[in-house]
Amino acid sequence: MSKFPQPFLSTVSHWQATNRGVETLYNYNRDEPLPSDVVDYVIVGAGMAGATMAYHLTRPGVADGRKVVVLEAKDVASGASGRNGGHCAPFSFGTLSFLTKPLEEGGAGLSMEEAIELLDFEKRVLEYVDHVVEKEGWKDKVDFWKGEKVEVRISEARKAEMEDDYGRWVAAREDHPRFKGTEPEWTWCGDEVEAKRRTRISNALGFSKGPAGSVHPHKLTTHFLKAAIATGQADLFSWAPVQSVTQSGDEWTLEVHNRGVIRAKKVIFCTNAHTPHLFEEGNPIADYLTPFQAQAANVTPPTTYAGADYGIHSYTIEDGPYLIFTPHSGIVLGLHHVSAIEMGVMTHKEVFVEDDAHVAPGIKRWLEEYCKNNFADWGVEAPGEGVNRVWSGMLCATKDTLPLVGPIPGKEGLYIAAGYHGHGMARIPLVTRYLAELLTTGTWNPLLPRTFKVTPERFERGRTAPPMYTEIEKMGGGLAGSLLKSLRLGSGVDQVASVVR
Ligand SMILES: Cc1cc2nc3c(=O)[nH]c(=O)nc-3n(C[C@H](O)[C@H](O)[C@H](O)COP(=O)(O)OP(=O)(O)OC[C@H]3O[C@@H](n4cnc5c(N)ncnc54)[C@H](O)[C@@H]3O)c2cc1C
Repeated sequence: MSKFPQPFLSTVSHWQATNRGVETLYNYNRDEPLPSDVVDYVIVGAGMAGATMAYHLTRPGVADGRKVVVLEAKDVASGASGRNGGHCAPFSFGTLSFLTKPLEEGGAGLSMEEAIELLDFEKRVLEYVDHVVEKEGWKDKVDFWKGEKVEVRISEARKAEMEDDYGRWVAAREDHPRFKGTEPEWTWCGDEVEAKRRTRISNALGFSKGPAGSVHPHKLTTHFLKAAIATGQADLFSWAPVQSVTQSGDEWTLEVHNRGVIRAKKVIFCTNAHTPHLFEEGNPIADYLTPFQAQAANVTPPTTYAGADYGIHSYTIEDGPYLIFTPHSGIVLGLHHVSAIEMGVMTHKEVFVEDDAHVAPGIKRWLEEYCKNNFADWGVEAPGEGVNRVWSGMLCATKDTLPLVGPIPGKEGLYIAAGYHGHGMARIPLVTRYLAELLTTGTWNPLLPRTFKVTPERFERGRTAPPMYTEIEKMGGGLAGSLLKSLRLGSGVDQVASVVR
């Protein structure tokens, strides 16, 4: 049920709960009429993608004099962008095996060259976010931290895989003209004693270390949008759920629930997990994208992990969470759904729930228990320490795990930037920057991976991926596919009001 309006109340994340003041954009233009003139760019969705899209379009010299309107079904960052783990962390060499595995075997199907270019793109996203928060003076306002992530391995098998991937990555860089001779940004350490000491994870066997960042994503999204609105060129209408998008001549008419219509020359869908419902059943975009649920929690550590002993790294941990130490308000951690299923703390059915209104009991318990059971010398939690809040959010898987970016084939004037496969913070800020460039100049910047481009060939290739959601299918056979299909049919084709015509 990722259509709008939603008949349920969503869980509230740590980020949403800690950004409620007068400087936020809650209820912005909620009761104001939509513009009656034809707008140059309508952006649907005000998460990180919609907010950065508006920001980039309103930078001087990009689309001067052209009007941008953002329509948001609920409030700014009410979707995944306000509910995530706060990690802005590029993939490391540890993802190479997966990225280069053929599509039909459940990988991303990239060549080694494409894979290392993707890793470089994500590294540049972190550098860009660092640059923009510094330039705009937001660093403290959005709790931005830049440092190092450790990827901890706790089994001999996964440690050996990491060692192997590290060697392949270093060799592949030497074969690539852009990276040859440059300093690798990741290191690998297979020394068990050192791993335990440096990561403070009691069963660590080895760890990699490389660049990462974290941020208060609700505040960052809000700041991007406020900067766009401040130019006078962009406006936001919250509680404006788009129901349909219809072509008339060279314009598009968007019907907005209870708010009338708005006309646009160009429409950009930044609707991530909710995108399939804007397209007819069977449309290749709807088929390429699969919504699923993830969860995260905020933990106040005991004083054994405060002051000089506060965590200095962010983490991803084998059979464990991705985890950040926020600058001031403790830990935020989440668990990748594949691990959650493997460990038996979530079922396939719970992963494919299409709402963010609840957290399944198994994963809630696991998130509550993780830190005290795994961080060395955690100690006794005083009342008020430990888990404060657990929440959920909707993400958007794609057949090849890569986002759909660019003009929608066969629909002149419609664009998309969606499908981040749970990794949007590490991709969106530059995806939308280069999409703004494409919209205004017609040129695809070669620094934006070509593998993100929406093409009929990619749709066709996607058919070779295991049905619905690759990793789940790999683990659970046809169960997830048939389950999702029945969920879709169960929600009723006739109830899918929102379509692009
Ligand atoms: C629990 C969790 C943990 C995560 N952790 C991380 C992490 O640590 N690092 C990382 O990189 N990524 C993480 N992610 C993924 C990341 O949050 C997403 O990839 C990213 O936020 C997607 O941004 P978006 O703007 O595309 O989508 P969203 O933030 O979901 O925004 C889409 C917006 O579109 C609006 N919308 C949809 N349909 C309509 C419509 N018809 N009309 C009007 N508005 C509409 C929605 O209301 C929503 O606000 C996590 C996600 C979750 C849920």
